[in-house]
Amino acid sequence: MLKKMAVGAAVAALAALALQVQVSAQQAQGQGGRGRAVGATTAGNDAYPTDDQWKNSKAAQALVAKAKSAAGSDAVLQARFDKTCTVLGPQRPAVLRQNAGQPAEPQRQVDVVKLFDNLYFFGYNTVGAWAIPTSQGIILIDSLNNVDEAEHIIEPALVKVGLKPADVKMIIVGHGHFDHFGGAPYFQQKYGSHVAMSKVDWDMIERPNPNARGPQANRPLPKRDVEVAADGQKITLGDETITLHITPGHTPGSLAYIIPVKDHGKAINILMLSGANITPDRTSLAAFDKALDAAKSAKVQALINGHPGLFGDEIGWMEQVRANPSAANPFVLTQPEFSKFIDIMKDCAEARLVALDFKGTN
Ligand SMILES: [Zn+2]
Repeated sequence: MLKKMAVGAAVAALAALALQVQVSAQQAQGQGGRGRAVGATTAGNDAYPTDDQWKNSKAAQALVAKAKSAAGSDAVLQARFDKTCTVLGPQRPAVLRQNAGQPAEPQRQVDVVKLFDNLYFFGYNTVGAWAIPTSQGIILIDSLNNVDEAEHIIEPALVKVGLKPADVKMIIVGHGHFDHFGGAPYFQQKYGSHVAMSKVDWDMIERPNPNARGPQANRPLPKRDVEVAADGQKITLGDETITLHITPGHTPGSLAYIIPVKDHGKAINILMLSGANITPDRTSLAAFDKALDAAKSAKVQALINGHPGLFGDEIGWMEQVRANPSAANPFVLTQPEFSKFIDIMKDCAEARLVALDFKGTN
């Protein structure tokens, strides 16, 4: 009991530290001379328009109006539009609170929750990871912040839902930041789990980076293993095949996943956007559009992201699923709704780029 409490306290202390470091890293990365925190981009910290550029660019506002009309009178889509179609795009609640001058919401652990018949979420209100049991073992998507959390959060979460940590055969890391790959070395060393990441993000984490601070600089790295090098590359384990698209912008090789799941027995596809909606240049916007078009073709109906709160009240939706597992899943939209949500995300990402070009004349 004592030992358990000590571990709990240590985890909580580490968690608090991780949040502090993440938020201050965002702050340091993202001030960009404009006094606001933003999600890091490959193009640097000025890859978001200013509030004035956003407001005054007629071309940008025409795209915003187009997105708003796509949402129409659908309340679900209006809420998605509100989160998506802003000058900074979907950002973490911690970042938004910081920009609003509010104190950070404390990081707290979220008990494992079964979001779909074959997809579990665990971790924190600020960052999480997922497990997908297949006929040949478990796929993890992301791995929390560090090896300690792999041992004290991921393993107990798997055990709690009747899964065996030793069955983790594959970890697909969404992008090369420590809050996604941090726990991967633990599974790699203890169980020989494979670790997949985009080739360019493997290159990024292995490159000595004099500017990296704190955890990103000091974290033990997973050993280079499976490289996702081609857009549309598939990873199969048993009866599950995940399709991966490379969407640079947050990091050079952030991944978008199209994941087949079962929702109350019904097969649907869901989308995971590890790079959020961060498209700081035309190349990244084109890759983002391509991934979203693939999601549309795959008739995707739900979106998940490693940082809850980016696209809606994901933590609240998880609590709804936990409280009433047989009710309609709040993550799931109808196909026509999700298709419109894709158009909204594309138009709003383009609007940010167009606004960035605004010099006060167009
Ligand atoms: Zn990141």
